[in-house]
Amino acid sequence: MPHEVRGVVAAKKGAPVEVQTIVVPDPGPGEALVSVGACGVCHTDLHYREGAVSDDFPFLLGHEAAGTVEAVGPDSGGLRPGDYVVIAWRAPCGTCRSCLRGRPWYCFDSRNAAQPMTLLDGTPLSAALGIGAFAEKTLVAAGQAVKVDPAARPEAAGLIGCGVMAGYGAAVNTGNVGRGDTVAVIGCGGVGCAAIAGASHAGARRVIAVDIDDGKLDGATRFGATHTVNSRGTDPVEAVRGLTGGFGVDVAIDAVGVPETYKQAFYMRDHAGVLVQVGVPDPAMSVELPLIDLFSRGGALKSSWYGDCLPTRDFPLLVDQYLSRRLDLGAFVTEKIALDEVEEAFARMRRGEVLRSVVVL
Ligand SMILES: [Zn+2]
Ligand SMILES: [Zn+2]
Repeated sequence: MPHEVRGVVAAKKGAPVEVQTIVVPDPGPGEALVSVGACGVCHTDLHYREGAVSDDFPFLLGHEAAGTVEAVGPDSGGLRPGDYVVIAWRAPCGTCRSCLRGRPWYCFDSRNAAQPMTLLDGTPLSAALGIGAFAEKTLVAAGQAVKVDPAARPEAAGLIGCGVMAGYGAAVNTGNVGRGDTVAVIGCGGVGCAAIAGASHAGARRVIAVDIDDGKLDGATRFGATHTVNSRGTDPVEAVRGLTGGFGVDVAIDAVGVPETYKQAFYMRDHAGVLVQVGVPDPAMSVELPLIDLFSRGGALKSSWYGDCLPTRDFPLLVDQYLSRRLDLGAFVTEKIALDEVEEAFARMRRGEVLRSVVVL
């Protein structure tokens, strides 16, 4: 029997989102029906609503969620009803050329549910990042539902499904921050603060937070920033050099994703340093750099997709760090809201007032 539940739908480009009744099918082969406990509001949801991701309206938004498996179809691995899960937007297939080479975080055929969720009139919904979790229930591929310790509250655990994993992984997986490294993180929103936490856990001896908002810089120190730079009135490249003996950092992480911050990250590196870009840029943006600087400064320019994570490896680990009080996921949660408050949460996110608004169901 299909399930009629409430979900947050972006019906057309730029229009405010609305709570509508949606139809969620029972799980077929390889699928899982998840009762959503909580789902964070991420910038990517807003990008979908603005038509910046694709034109496949209507969208069912929400993709940063934790919940409980309600039912599974055949061939759903070891997943069982009652399992407590964080939903991933990457579920490696195991058989593509990247998976077969032992690099499943670059999987080319990540799995999603085969059956669509629909509006009451049968119109198929495009689920944001193959999840669609601003809804009382959602249908995903069983491989997207990653079991974690049920002691973790859903409003905290769900954040691992996108923003926290992206930032933490940008430092630990993509940037490969190691003991004794110096690190700068530009942009201290949710993703940037998670990158700061990751760098700190990895043993960085200096973690320099860069932002234009003193309140966000204060927040960054809670996640392990050792120094802060307000780049509104100071040249951040000079400031970071000043804090690193005149050399620059080993790893510079751009968690904003605009040309100006990318260039700052590029030039605040030490020789042969690594730049990691994790902020999602607007498709219209481009960046210009002198080719001689690219050559002579050496190092690596990397992009981090989803923190280059492997959800089955990384999600349970981050949940354990949260439960043992080494990763303060609760500090990312600025406010808990209801399903019908997502539009207001978008406005607060745009004004930079929140790390995360989290819908609790
Ligand atoms: Zn997201
Ligand atoms: Zn694959």
